[in-house]
Amino acid sequence: MNAPFVSPIKELLDDLHARLTDRRDGEVATYIPELGKADPEWLGLAVATLDGTLYEAGDTDVPFTIQSVSKPFVYALALQDRGLEDVLKCVGVEPTGDAFNAVRLEPVSGRPYNPMVNSGAIVTSTLVGGANQEERRGRILSGLSAFAGRALEVDGKVLSSESATGDRNRALAYLMHGAGVLTCPVEDALALYFEQCAALVTTRDLAVMTATLAGGGVNPLTGETVVSVEAAANALTVMATCGTYDYAGEWLVRAGLPAKSGVSGGLIAALPSQLGLGAFSPRLDARGNSVRAVAACEELSTRFGLHLMRPSERSGPVFHRTLRGDTAHSSRVRAHDERSALARLGGAIRVYVLRGDLAFGTAEAVVRTISEDTDSVRWVVLDLKRAGRVAPVAVTLLEGLAAKLKERGITTVIVDTEKRVAVRSAVIAETRDEAMELCEDALLAEAGAARPEVPIAEQDLLRGLDPFMVTALDAYLETREYETGERLVQDVAALCFILSGGLARQVIIGERAVRETSMGPGTAVGRLALIDDAGHSHRIVAEEPTACKVLTTQSLARLERDSPRLADALRWSIANAIAERLRRTDAENHALIH
Ligand code: GLN
Repeated sequence: MNAPFVSPIKELLDDLHARLTDRRDGEVATYIPELGKADPEWLGLAVATLDGTLYEAGDTDVPFTIQSVSKPFVYALALQDRGLEDVLKCVGVEPTGDAFNAVRLEPVSGRPYNPMVNSGAIVTSTLVGGANQEERRGRILSGLSAFAGRALEVDGKVLSSESATGDRNRALAYLMHGAGVLTCPVEDALALYFEQCAALVTTRDLAVMTATLAGGGVNPLTGETVVSVEAAANALTVMATCGTYDYAGEWLVRAGLPAKSGVSGGLIAALPSQLGLGAFSPRLDARGNSVRAVAACEELSTRFGLHLMRPSERSGPVFHRTLRGDTAHSSRVRAHDERSALARLGGAIRVYVLRGDLAFGTAEAVVRTISEDTDSVRWVVLDLKRAGRVAPVAVTLLEGLAAKLKERGITTVIVDTEKRVAVRSAVIAETRDEAMELCEDALLAEAGAARPEVPIAEQDLLRGLDPFMVTALDAYLETREYETGERLVQDVAALCFILSGGLARQVIIGERAVRETSMGPGTAVGRLALIDDAGHSHRIVAEEPTACKVLTTQSLARLERDSPRLADALRWSIANAIAERLRRTDAENHALIH
């Protein structure tokens, strides 16, 4: 039996956990007496990804009070409820480099410097939405719970322990009340703040809460949108500059991640768009940060390559492939004249197949490369089918590109099946094939090379036949007209020459008819059936009013009887046409692969 699969990420966490248990420096906080009861040996490490996967090592389900780690979450709630401008009036966003409980406020305004130190957090608690104290209490606890993805409870003992001893915070609150920054009664503000600090969480909760911020406010477990993208981003920003107090600068250099610590030993760190880290161990360093949690996060950041300021791995070139309309074509089957016109003039069609995420850097490269190469170009197809995320800036830049190209008389066609890109100056197509066909049609029309009507004498299939043979064959053909959407009854028609209009070949997938290729005037349908008699595997439908000349199965039988030489010649023409077609397809496949 195979051993159960252990993720290498879990192994890494276990290894880190094992090594960190040897570190015994630091002291458990005792200024809130109840916190002194924590087991100094506890150590929990957890990583939550944005799709809700959790990796854990050690004591990740030991409950402890969240303390200052609550600050960025309550700040995000206040931003959500009040908006940045209103919140900024009461609490700044300037790093102080002060200790968490420093008694220092902005000189003139009396405003606290930032929401990550106690003074700022006390004011922030009063800014969350709610008509009265009770509603605000409810909002904070349910908001923290929404971040965690489960109902959190408050540790009554820690709460009363802090209320009874929190004179320093009381002093700060009075100072701010005196300065007019704190407008509600001091004890109300403290009650909210002490209660938020006494919310019970586990290390696992911390990872999930942080992943919620990293994911733009969406909880990865519940899918709930807890706060807006802006509120989450602003909270992370303040964490980056102020999250670890007077260690914030060195922390950012070493770990390179927005983070927040608390006196119970919790620490969170986030990598936007990727993950949330939670760590917990009660022994603190002189600045009030958990010794082992800081070491764990710093090492994880290094090992996982999470530092925000390092260049991220490049996803490779943004151009997956570049094609030209003279060597690559849509799947539309065209008459010889149209094909040779495309081979001559098709260079005016350029197809860019893009891949990877389109953000500023990649979209800039696309815009620059395409706009530097517009000589003799008239149609630009941008195929986004392989592109990943399309950032708003990429849409703006593509819009700008399409508008500029339009000024130069160049049409932009964007292939975007999922319709992510609304670019006004461009034509949007479902598939690359459709986009190329559209450009080819436009090119042929402009060049006067389109063949809307091809008489029987000029049909591709009959080009090699002597004129008298064509005339003889014509006597066996019947003229048929089809309306748009009308199906060809293929059992009756063994061979069908398109004189004008166009037919599409469809495959039926489930309930849906999917257009596979289309055929224009001068080409013929049913050629294979004449050789191997295997019948038709597709559905042929007129895409526009279409006139054909048809060799019915009865006429074919008659032809075989009356004029075996003519029937043979026709078969040879078909075999030649098929061989030529195969050779062309091979050449195009070759061009695609190499
Ligand atoms: N409740 C604690 C206090 O105000 C929170 C401080 C902290 O975690 N750094 O002192």
